[in-house]
Amino acid sequence: MLDQAQIDRLRQTDAGEFPVLSVYVNLEPGPDSLRTLPPRIKDLLAQVEISSESLPRPQRLSIREDVRALSRDVGRFGTDLGHGVAIFLSSGAGIDEQFALPGPVRDRAIVDAGPYTRPLEAMIEHYQSYCVTVIGRRIGSIFRFSMDQLDTWEEMRDEEIRKANYGGFSGYEEQRVRARAEEMAARHYRHVAERLAELRRTDGGFDLLIVGGSDVHVAGLLDVLPTDVAAVMAGTFVVDPGTMTPATVLEHARRVAAEWEVEEERRLVADLFDAAASGGTAILGLEEACVAVNRRAVEVLYIQAERTTPGSVCLECERVTCETGSVCAICGGELSAVPDVVDRLSELVRSTGGRVRHILNEGPLAEVEAGALLRYVSPMVDPT
Ligand SMILES: [Zn+2]
Repeated sequence: MLDQAQIDRLRQTDAGEFPVLSVYVNLEPGPDSLRTLPPRIKDLLAQVEISSESLPRPQRLSIREDVRALSRDVGRFGTDLGHGVAIFLSSGAGIDEQFALPGPVRDRAIVDAGPYTRPLEAMIEHYQSYCVTVIGRRIGSIFRFSMDQLDTWEEMRDEEIRKANYGGFSGYEEQRVRARAEEMAARHYRHVAERLAELRRTDGGFDLLIVGGSDVHVAGLLDVLPTDVAAVMAGTFVVDPGTMTPATVLEHARRVAAEWEVEEERRLVADLFDAAASGGTAILGLEEACVAVNRRAVEVLYIQAERTTPGSVCLECERVTCETGSVCAICGGELSAVPDVVDRLSELVRSTGGRVRHILNEGPLAEVEAGALLRYVSPMVDPT
């Protein structure tokens, strides 16, 4: 299963002087998706050949060999590889890696100095680990999913209330039995809540909690969740515990998580824009983001997923910029072209202890492409 350690290892792969061809292919069984696979891959590879024509001969030959190898393999790609596949090749440097992806991905081919991992990073962030609890009066089922796959499933049962025979008993006795049943249900909710707290705090934890069941039991469990568990509540759904399966539970959980994500992204982007409007603590725009990242001033970089913008890195001062000339405007050093400035910015932010958030849903950030929360307030420089 795809994880951060694999991505980190991939990023650290040293291709030396040779370029790496990174290819992402969508395998989601949508209309025509698999039938058109070979022509789609051929199109991507044709673009790669055209764009690598200007490379020096050894690099060009390495890419040409990668394109040939991939062309030979086109027939191999099917849905058994997951919803998508990522391939990293460099015949010159001896790199040949392939990853099955947990979700659909946009087709693309990128030639860069190292493996192009930004779509993988976005995917890891998107497919968080969910804990899904289906709560009944006596039974609680706890499912844990990560990267869209079921990891564990456990069931908790609390003792059954003995069926009472009300015939001939006074109203008092009936009330007593009912109170006892409510007390037992409350105890069951607490047991499940305690188990969730335990899972959240140990054993890898989970990022989101989603609760299903009938309204009354869902409300009963939510009432007794410890604060740190309640803090990661993403939403609830109605399901009949008697007929559910892990697949139907995952279906509900995906929908709740997607709705939660839209809302969470909207809130993050709104906060970013507010911070930028109040001045000093945040910036908006790709070029502005480059400046802040180059100064190591970024705490959180927000980027619109799926957008790529070519740019350059200065070989002298190591500045990342959207400029595409051959000479650095600051130090006069040589600029080296990069296919995606945002990828380089993300890498720099991570390597300097900051965080990167991919925003998947189109919103205000799409118009400015990137934004950042800053580590410190920059001193005002009087431009006069
Ligand atoms: Zn420079």
